Amino acid sequence: MNEYNTPFIIGAGWAGLSAGIYLSQAGYSPTLFESAPQAGGRARSVYLTPHLKVDNGQHLLLGAYREYLQLCQLLSLSEKTMLLRQPLQLLFRTPHHPSREIHLPAFLPSPLHLLWGLLIAQGYSFTEKYAVLSMMSRLLLHDFTLSSDCSVQKLLHTYQQPVTIIQYLWQPLCLAALNTPLHLASAQVFLNVLKSSFIAPQYHSNTLLIRQPLSDSFVTPAIQYIQQHQAKLLLRHKVTQLHITDKTVCGISVNQQFIPCSQVILATPAHITRRLLAPHKIFLQALTQQLAALSFEPIYTAYFQYPEHITLPEYMSASIATLGQWYFDRRHCQQPGMIAIVISSQGHHTTFSSSTLLTYLEAELQHYFPALGKPLQRFLIKEQRATFSCQVNIQHYRPQQITPVKGLYLSGDYTLTPYPATLESAILSARLASQALATEH
Ligand SMILES: Cc1cc2nc3c(=O)[nH]c(=O)nc-3n(C[C@H](O)[C@H](O)[C@H](O)COP(=O)(O)OP(=O)(O)OC[C@H]3O[C@@H](n4cnc5c(N)ncnc54)[C@H](O)[C@@H]3O)c2cc1C
Repeated sequence: MNEYNTPFIIGAGWAGLSAGIYLSQAGYSPTLFESAPQAGGRARSVYLTPHLKVDNGQHLLLGAYREYLQLCQLLSLSEKTMLLRQPLQLLFRTPHHPSREIHLPAFLPSPLHLLWGLLIAQGYSFTEKYAVLSMMSRLLLHDFTLSSDCSVQKLLHTYQQPVTIIQYLWQPLCLAALNTPLHLASAQVFLNVLKSSFIAPQYHSNTLLIRQPLSDSFVTPAIQYIQQHQAKLLLRHKVTQLHITDKTVCGISVNQQFIPCSQVILATPAHITRRLLAPHKIFLQALTQQLAALSFEPIYTAYFQYPEHITLPEYMSASIATLGQWYFDRRHCQQPGMIAIVISSQGHHTTFSSSTLLTYLEAELQHYFPALGKPLQRFLIKEQRATFSCQVNIQHYRPQQITPVKGLYLSGDYTLTPYPATLESAILSARLASQALATEH
């Protein structure tokens, strides 16, 4: 036995950290190798200036994130102090038309909360409300399962959704949930999200806003937990090679040094996983082909810092027919005066320079809220590979956590789970990979 005769986890994003927690809980002392100077991956906090820490992108969670909530309990994180839990409130603004609003009541059980919320929704016509309710009830008859996948756009046309309800409900929800445009997005994965949020206990449809910076809220407690359980986290340790002989894992190379091991959870992003597996096509041909079929979508997050007394009327709202898609007032996240604007997926915005885009976004914000004045500071974070593109039939291309190579497991938001690329998918994949590793013969 050498000191490395423990499971290795490559990558310390939320998937890798969660795998570290699950393996520690199962009695292992894994070693995590992370190439970056900090853990957290795509869901980490970053310093924009020496005194200004923000999240790498605005994140919103749902009450349906069961894996995440269970892990928080394991880490003894108090939901009350950590999360702002709210019944779903959707407000859709548009520059030249009245806004529309859907509030799901907290006092009714599911699915009555949905029925009631839609019936009293403001700004929607009777025909629009009926179309949504009729589609949801017909989908329920099929348990939200399609015989074959199609695009969300096709699904909405099949269920005769009016153009306006697509524009003021389905399109923003689809972009927010799948980060993929309607004409490409997988209807089946979208239905999985709708089912887990609405055809479930009422609180599954709640929105959860993490009150602290992402790194403080999960990443640091996760590191503390695994270190208390004798696991190791090695930052600035980039894994450059995976060694496999006889269809069995036998080691990794880190900074040109070979380290033997027999069990690895690869929790790197999909494109890095593909790179590490490519030399082993002979054992992993189908898997590398699956990974090659994945493409990626960007998310841009703009941060506008105003004086601390500045607030928006809602903590979250959507904007239609503008470049900015969702506005978040970060006063609930210990950042008074900070407004985050999210732009999902591809679009015109990717053709603008950062400063031009910020100017457009600021003008849109000013149009809705003239009293805001000039921001003190503004920043744009562009994540080009924020998520995999959740396209039609994507579930055929997402690899399982178990691989044909003995001792090799995959974890990450892109691996096969019912959900799109989310924190919940990353955590669920980690649980599945860790369970498979722990039961390996
Ligand atoms: C801007 C943005 C907004 C988002 N909004 C939401 C949201 O609102 N709700 C939601 O649920 N999800 C959201 N997501 C998605 C969510 O952040 C991801 O699904 C999740 O963080 C993925 O975690 P992961 O561990 O699978 O991958 P990653 O976070 O990518 O972690 C992989 C880790 O591997 C490390 N690594 C890479 N190569 C190597 C190597 N060779 N050796 C060692 N380590 C390596 C990386 O540095 C990284 O730390 C958003 C993502 C972005 C970018």
